[in-house]
Amino acid sequence: MLKCTSCGKEYPLRKPCQRCECGEPLELELFKGVPGIGRSIWERFSQFYPFELDLEYSLGEGDTPLTKAKRLSKELGVRLYFKNETLNPTWSFKDRGTFIGIHRALELGFDKIGTVSTGNMAASVAAYGARFGLETFILVSSSIAEEKLKTLAPYGARVIKVHGNYGELYYKSLELGQKKGIYFINSDDPFRVEGYKSISFEIAEEIAPDYVVIPTSSGGLFRGIVKGFLELKESELIDNLPTFVAVQAKGCSPLCRAFNEGKQKIERFENPHTIAHAIENPYPPSGNAVLRLLKELKGLCVAVSDDEILKAQRELAREGLFIQPASATGIAALRKLREEGKIKAGARVVSILTGSGLKFLDAVKEGKVRECRIEELGECL
Ligand SMILES: *Cc1c(COP(=O)(O)O)cnc(C)c1O
Ligand SMILES: [Zn+2]
Repeated sequence: MLKCTSCGKEYPLRKPCQRCECGEPLELELFKGVPGIGRSIWERFSQFYPFELDLEYSLGEGDTPLTKAKRLSKELGVRLYFKNETLNPTWSFKDRGTFIGIHRALELGFDKIGTVSTGNMAASVAAYGARFGLETFILVSSSIAEEKLKTLAPYGARVIKVHGNYGELYYKSLELGQKKGIYFINSDDPFRVEGYKSISFEIAEEIAPDYVVIPTSSGGLFRGIVKGFLELKESELIDNLPTFVAVQAKGCSPLCRAFNEGKQKIERFENPHTIAHAIENPYPPSGNAVLRLLKELKGLCVAVSDDEILKAQRELAREGLFIQPASATGIAALRKLREEGKIKAGARVVSILTGSGLKFLDAVKEGKVRECRIEELGECL
């Protein structure tokens, strides 16, 4: 059964429903289970999924390292861990959701899939579409950078640049997908969200965090991570839920604005502008759902500036991790929360490093490079 996250209306699983008539996103019930033995997270937590997964098609998504921060733990006075999602097959956590989303499409009998994205999700769906041998449609905005088109070109998907209102494209794709037999695995598709909850399972296998810090755009990732921890709690595998922190860029923070103003609904963020392009959604389709979760679970919402983001990106590189600006927002937010005394010293904090820095080289300044003749190398060293 799929259930509306807002009005509670139910929809049968055999129909390809993705959103409620009321406009809000749908989700699956909370699963309960006991973890089993297996090499992959999909095997160990198979009881938490509504269908059997065809692991022969897996590209090795998930099972990413939880890495202890060295310098930053000391500097920020917390026990900080990085969930390093850059090690997924297309270098972002999107692969977890794409893998489960495709199973849903196949279960319903679709042989075409698609997505609406300008970045990581486009590459992920293109890659898995190729892997599963499905015709794959990627709808991108007309202003997409050449660099980003290149990250999906190799997979051979059908890429369509759409002129017009990009915000409308999400809804338009779902509507046309139903008519044309294309299952659009968009940002907060209920089954994409199911894929993301595997991040929580993996974290809980290693530690019991006090805080989980989550870069948030459409809200799919945030919803997935929360759902994962709720299922662990329901299954009595953990005692307490962590505090969830949604992080946005100041230049596009519709969620934080609504949260701080105590609103029930998000409003479109006009003229968004930030270096953290992967989280630059001015009207997130799961924004209201995230707002409800933040209130219910007493979560936090933090917006950080581009300067703070770039500083955090450099700090992460000094830990040996090169990640994209959107993914560095978590560290910028953590610094802020520590300064404001909202997170206690010694707390266990997990920051989700959502995607790789290699995807966005334009955001990086060239480092200092010295030059010398080979005869003078001795003096140069
Ligand atoms: C997609 C993405 C996010 C945000 O995920 P949502 O599910 O849209 O909230 C954060 N960081 C990176 C790198 C992403 O690609
Ligand atoms: Zn509804």
